[in-house]
Amino acid sequence: MRPRRGMLDAMDCLFCKIVAETIPSKKLYDDADVYAFADIDPKAPFHALIVPKEHIESLADAAANHKSILGHMHLTAAELARTHGLNNGYRVVINTGADGGQTVSHLHLHLMGGRPMHWPPG
Ligand code: IMP
Repeated sequence: MRPRRGMLDAMDCLFCKIVAETIPSKKLYDDADVYAFADIDPKAPFHALIVPKEHIESLADAAANHKSILGHMHLTAAELARTHGLNNGYRVVINTGADGGQTVSHLHLHLMGGRPMHWPPG
């Protein structure tokens, strides 16, 4: 059987390989639907990436059936912020598409904290 397009994308995806643990990461959280790990090039003292285990390319590709996973990703961010002592606040970002600065084509939520953030971002 020939793999479908979506399956081919997932087979070639860095974050799918991290989720599958065929590429190592510093794991911060893992459940049936969501995986979180430390960003390899942190932009803040604490910088985690929270991803759905399902391969969704970007927020622009999310659909009505992804409502639950999108909420789950945000609640995971809040829980990680609590467990990592980001009591003074933090920032959650989803870069989307070329103009949004997205460089990895698997939906991910950045959780950054441990320093004051500036606004607007660059
Ligand atoms: P984006 O620019 O919003 O797509 O974010 C991609 C993020 O993935 C960047 O912050 C990168 O530093 C991070 N990243 C890229 N490769 C790896 C890796 O192998 N492990 C952990 N983080 C990575």
